[in-house]
Parts: sequence; C-alpha cells; structure tokens
Amino acid sequence: MSKYRIFVLAGTATLLVGSLSALLGGWSPGLAIALGSAAALFAATLHAHRQRQRTLRQLTTCLHDLAHGHPVHALHTAAPPELKELVDAWNYLATTLPEHIRHLSRERALWRAILDHTGEGLLVVDPTGRVPWFNPTAARLLGVSQHTQQPLSLGTLVHHHRIIHLWQRCQTQGETQEDVLELPATRRTVRVRVIPLRHDDTPHALIVLEDITYVRQLETTRRDFISNISHELRTPLASLKAVVETLRDGALDEPTIARRFLTHIEREVDTMVQMVEELLELARIESGRLPLRFVPVPVTDIVMPVVERFQPQAERAHLHLSAHLPSPSPQVLADPPRAQRILANLLHNAIKFTPAGGEVQVTVTPRERDVCIAVRDTGVGIPADQLPRIFERFYKVDRARTGEGTGLGLAIAKHLTLAHGGRIWVESTEGEGSTFYFTLQRATSP
Ligand code: ADP
Repeated sequence: MSKYRIFVLAGTATLLVGSLSALLGGWSPGLAIALGSAAALFAATLHAHRQRQRTLRQLTTCLHDLAHGHPVHALHTAAPPELKELVDAWNYLATTLPEHIRHLSRERALWRAILDHTGEGLLVVDPTGRVPWFNPTAARLLGVSQHTQQPLSLGTLVHHHRIIHLWQRCQTQGETQEDVLELPATRRTVRVRVIPLRHDDTPHALIVLEDITYVRQLETTRRDFISNISHELRTPLASLKAVVETLRDGALDEPTIARRFLTHIEREVDTMVQMVEELLELARIESGRLPLRFVPVPVTDIVMPVVERFQPQAERAHLHLSAHLPSPSPQVLADPPRAQRILANLLHNAIKFTPAGGEVQVTVTPRERDVCIAVRDTGVGIPADQLPRIFERFYKVDRARTGEGTGLGLAIAKHLTLAHGGRIWVESTEGEGSTFYFTLQRATSP
C-alpha cells in the first residue's frame, strides 16, 4: 500500500470520526480530529515498519541464495525509501550476475577444452605433493586412468624418482627445472619441465610433459642411416683400393689377371652406382617429389610383364615361376611402371633367396576395395624376430649371405606401395619360405 493511500485513508478516517462525534456524542470536533490524526499516524508508522521488515527479510533470503550458489532473482516489491538504494543495487546484481556467470562458464569450458586437447601432458602439483588436476595427455603418457580417484600423490602418478627430484628442486629454488627421461609405464621419451606457479600464497607447480619419442626415433634412424651407408660404401671402396694397389704393384703387366681385376672393379662400381640411384629414388619417393601418374589399368598389365621378364632368371636358377590371376582381370588405380617396380623387387628377392628346385608363385586376389598381390617362395625364409625390421633401409637378415644386395629393395617397395595408398606385409617361416603381399586400390567404375 502506498504512502499516499495511507494518508488519504487516515484523513478520511479523521473526518468521519470528527463528523460522527460532532453529530452523535456532542464531542468537540477539534478533539475528534486530533484523535483521528493520531490514529492515522500510528497506522502509517506501523505499515512502514512492516514494509521495511518484509524488504529486509526478502534481501536476506536473496543473499542466502547467492551465498549457496542458488539462482538469484530481482525484487519487485516497493521498498521503503531508506532501503530503495540497497534494493536497486541488488536488482542490478541479480539481472547482470547470470550473464557474468554464463560468460565465466563459457570461458572455463573453452580453457578446459584447450587443456584437454593440448599435445603436452600437464599436471598441477600442490605444496604437499598431491596432484589435484592432470589432463588426458598426461594420463596417456603416464599410463593411468584420468578418472583415478584424485588427488593422487605425485610419486604414485609418475613412478619416476627423477621427476620427483625435479619437483623438489623447483619447490626449494623457486625456478623452472628441466630434464629428459623415459617414462617407465609407457616407455615414451619425454622432456619434463617443472614450473613454479605463483598465482597465490600456496606455491603450486605445473609439470609439463613433452613427448619427444618420435624426435628421438628420427635421430636414431638418421644415425643408423649414416652408419649403414658408411658401412655399405666402405666394403666396395676397400675392395677397389686393394685391387688398384695390386694392379699398381705389378698385376697390370699380366693381361689375364689385369682383365679379371678390371671386371671386379666394374662390378663394385656398378653396385655403388645402383646403390646411389636407389637411394636417390627412395629419397624422391619419401619426400613426395616423385610424381605418380595414376591410371585405371587391368592388374594383368602390371603383373604379367614382370613375371615374363623374370622367367629366364628363374629358369637359370632352376626354379618354377608361375602366375595365378583371376579372370576377368580387375582394374586397379596405379602408376604402371612404379607398381611393376614393387612386384619386380619382390620377385627378385624370391628368386635370389630360393634354392634350386624351389618354387615361386605370384597370386592375384581381388578384394572388396583393393587387389592383393602375393609373391610366395619356398626359399630360406626369414627368422620371426627379423620380420618387423625387414622393410627398413639397408636391412639385411644375413649380411654374409646377401652380400650382393643393397638392402634397399624392400624399402623402395614399401614406399611405392604407400604412395599407391596400399599396404605391404610379409609372412615367413625360416627354412620353409616367405610370402610377401602388397595391395593396390581398385579403380572405381566411372
Ligand atoms: P637386398 O635384397 O638388396 O639385400 P631388400 O631390401 O630387398 O635388400 O631385402 C632385405 C633383406 O630381406 C634381404 O637382404 C634378405 O635378408 C631379406 N629378404 C627379402 N626377401 C626375402 C625372401 N623372399 N626370402 C628370404 N629373405 C628375404
């Protein structure tokens, strides 16, 4: 009820009381008006008191809701003048707060997503050595579940004394600590940085785990490559040097011996030239600088020319070489000379590693999306523990036995198959033979 209406009511009451008393009781009108005014004043004061009490109660409830994180709302009741400013301030807060909260929640969700998807493992460590938070990458690197009951101690999570020492040094010195180590659970090589966090009085630390396994593998591959190539070149170069010295020491004057040595020199030089050419080709395929021209072609046109080319070689080695193709021949999407090169490298090995009297078979199997070409031999086979490395550059199972090869044939076959969007693999039993498989994608009908 507004103040204006109260005073109107009170005035009306005063007039009525005055008039009635004058009419009925014969009171003096002045006394009646005084009594009426007092009654009106009392009523107004009582009403104002009640309104103030109600507003204060409502404000208390609102603040209670705010303190307990419940949704808040504006007050729409009329406030007494002394509380009006307070109610207005509350109403402003109640209308703007939800938007602030929404904004903060969005920002929090965004940061959460960034931290969850970052490629680095992140762990926050509190001053007591407990880990209140870590991201999924850290969980993956450490081989633990992200939903482990938290907070766990740093030691339980990382299982590595060097990380704990880094954290302890960071605590005492207040400076970032760094190290490179291998995580025991997942065998990943990581660069660990422990960074002091000084956002409040409790000195937390942030542990950053950067997975550098791949970089380390690349470094190892590069080192192996350099050592392999040096080894491959040293042998023919040493042999050439010995031959040249022998010639200079007198063999040059004996034409038969000189001619034999010249043939030897030529063979060594040919091997080195072939190796350099294959290395260059491999580098071109790997870097994508060898442009492949894919055309739809019947798989017979890939397989048969190679099989026919190797037929005389197989006969000389007393091997039975056969090809088994489906009819009609499925179409594949391939760069024909490069696809033939894959098969040629596999056939060359099959013939080289199969003793006389053995068998070499090329089989073509059409599948739903691709065509699988298998080269099976009944040769020496490959020991099971060597199979995973067989497609590496320069890898040879038995260096003494396969001395004349460059060790690059399978690496080239692998990279050419990958460039065709296919897969290459091997199954072998030592002493019984090997089967090499590679796939070419089917040409989709136009
Ligand atoms: P290269 O034949 O020139 O030595 P490759 O890369 O073609 O090089 O082959 C690597 C090694 O894999 C060979 O040295 C040999 O030890 C092994 N290998 C490849 N194919 C066969 C096969 N069909 N049977 C047995 N061993 C094989």
